[in-house]
Amino acid sequence: MKNLQKLIIGGIALTLSLTPLVGAITPAEVAARVATDDVTVKFLEMLCDDHGGRLTGHPANEAAMVDLEAALRELDLNPTRENFPMRGWVRADDTLTMNGPVTREMRAIGIGYIEPTGPIAGPVVDLGAGGPEAFERDFPAGAIGLFGPSAKGRTDEVSARAVEHGLSALMFINRVGGGQLLARTGGFHGESLPLPVYSITQEEGFWMRRLIVRDVAVEVGLQARSYTKPIETSNLRVRIPGRSKETVLVGAHFDSWDQGQGAIDNGLGIAQLLAIARVLRDEELERTVELVWYNGEEQGLWGSRYAIESGVDAKNPPVVMLNLDMVGVPIAVNAMGHDDLLPVLERWNSSRGDAALEQGVQNKSWVASDHTPYQVNGVRIITFNAPIDHDSVRYYHDFGDTYDKLTPELIKDSAATIASLVVELAQVADLPTGTLPPAEVEALLLKAKLDSRLKATGMWKF
Ligand SMILES: [Zn+2]
Repeated sequence: MKNLQKLIIGGIALTLSLTPLVGAITPAEVAARVATDDVTVKFLEMLCDDHGGRLTGHPANEAAMVDLEAALRELDLNPTRENFPMRGWVRADDTLTMNGPVTREMRAIGIGYIEPTGPIAGPVVDLGAGGPEAFERDFPAGAIGLFGPSAKGRTDEVSARAVEHGLSALMFINRVGGGQLLARTGGFHGESLPLPVYSITQEEGFWMRRLIVRDVAVEVGLQARSYTKPIETSNLRVRIPGRSKETVLVGAHFDSWDQGQGAIDNGLGIAQLLAIARVLRDEELERTVELVWYNGEEQGLWGSRYAIESGVDAKNPPVVMLNLDMVGVPIAVNAMGHDDLLPVLERWNSSRGDAALEQGVQNKSWVASDHTPYQVNGVRIITFNAPIDHDSVRYYHDFGDTYDKLTPELIKDSAATIASLVVELAQVADLPTGTLPPAEVEALLLKAKLDSRLKATGMWKF
């Protein structure tokens, strides 16, 4: 659009540059096409059922990416791999048993980045939410801490406190009941945990807690066999060249946890990007559109960190990055604290008439998905506020995150809204360009009170 503006003089520039080029596809046309395209829905079903979970570094992750590459090549697109190294984690048979007062194998799962330990056994102590005050007492030798379902601090913070106070392992009670093992995943940055941490069910967690309240001794035993190891993996990128080199980047993480199929988190995003690729492949828009499927998100935003810090986006940062992580039914679009994006987003939303998002445009920044590395490097970010119904979303990261939780309508309708916005962003003249200077990024993140979270994950760079 820059070039076009240069050719137009004076007062007519705004009017003309806002008029879509003759023949260019409109946001409404794109949305209509995506909303009736079943190919992406079928692709996601196959991806989920043929491969299962896509833990980064696992052969299933690579096999699934090969399938995605093939689907893109069939569209005459030329996907490129962006290889990068990271610390991987291999799940092995991590066991946890209740030794007393009842003897039984517990329904438990090792949390990412635990290392081989044990066999060990010890008395269970209740740490409540795991905050600093829970550690202001003496623990029996070799005690194993129980904490959750709400926690004061991320797993690595509670782990550090536990090690300092001589505990030998931790059990985290899930936030969702019904036998679920939603492995707690906050704050991973690829470092081994200093002690074994297990995710356990609410039911067994509350059971042990009730016994402890009655002063009944509870003992558990465990052996952790999962381990970390350096791996090579890759992001996948597709470029749909526009008239300008200015790039609108749309990203979604490709990897998932291993227990289910990663359908909600984030097969949905994989399919939404593919839907955009299918509809835009023959279009020439004003801006270049790049679609990136990131790996290593769940284990610490490895792929997106690589892309913006040492990959392609380090040389040519996108003018905006739209991140799709568990985007269900869009109810609002989020300008993420970038006030200068509000006019574009407001205008897009109101132009949609009946399809306008019910909560319109929001402007509240958040961190901890693949947009975060871009955010701290000054790239403007957009996300959607797009809930998934509770009966389905409760399963994410766990065994129950499977294709049956999604409907074709959810996949197509969400993708249609996203595709509409992508076209708008690729076409409008008045999209702010360039990146934000570090001082502005810092101010934005401080205003949103995101500094402590970023500091804890080592991503605060100001
Ligand atoms: Zn996710």
